[in-house]
Amino acid sequence: MTPRQAQGATVIVAVDGPAGSGKSSVSRAAARALGFGYLDTGAAYRALSWSVLDRGIDPEDADAVVAGLPGFDYAIGTDPDDYFVRVGRSAGGAADVTGAIREPRVTAVVSAIARVPAVRAHLVDLFRSIAAATDRPGVVIEGRDITTVVAPDAPVRILLTASEAVRMARRSAEVTTQSARDTAAALAKRDAADAKVVDFMNAAEGVTTLDSTDLTFDETVAAVVDLVRAASSAG
Ligand code: C5P
Repeated sequence: MTPRQAQGATVIVAVDGPAGSGKSSVSRAAARALGFGYLDTGAAYRALSWSVLDRGIDPEDADAVVAGLPGFDYAIGTDPDDYFVRVGRSAGGAADVTGAIREPRVTAVVSAIARVPAVRAHLVDLFRSIAAATDRPGVVIEGRDITTVVAPDAPVRILLTASEAVRMARRSAEVTTQSARDTAAALAKRDAADAKVVDFMNAAEGVTTLDSTDLTFDETVAAVVDLVRAASSAG
């Protein structure tokens, strides 16, 4: 046990990267290997986008999106073996949106919602409280601004990258409801829009770049786990 764990503090592993870098599946597998929790922050932006569409709010109307934030009731599983995303419905009850938030109609509006500063502030608070509530020794948090905004003091901060060709190939293998060409075009458009809000293509100071272009999935997970173990033994 590291001194940090002995004090009961949660070890935060911050992972950022562009779409298709593999950060969700790699972070989840690394969390499983480490016995840590796993927090997919992109899922919250997607769940909010789903809720905005469900409530008939115009995703381009920032004021209306912000006015709807108090009505955004969201739950996410942080157990890497029990991942789910649920959103409260205005009509009552909760909808399981784990699959629906990956649909192209949601992906198409998420960047417009994520660029609203009040949305980001609201979700950053939510991420910090979810991470603080874990009963695990650590949490792997992945997204776009984790290393820089959500957890800039995390003992392990990683920027997971891959070449654009590899990212597009990985993403089109995941999305079966769209042609590979449409998926690639949507990914490039989303990265360009997201990059105007947060720089997730260049590592901030102190952030380790992990390029997975020539690594297998298992090698990438092992590299993340090694970085966490190295930081634990150093700290
Ligand atoms: O990671 P994922 O592709 O699911 O993220 C969906 C969207 O959520 C991104 O395109 C981006 O607009 C937004 N996002 C963000 N900040 C994060 C995570 C995701 O703005 N930390």
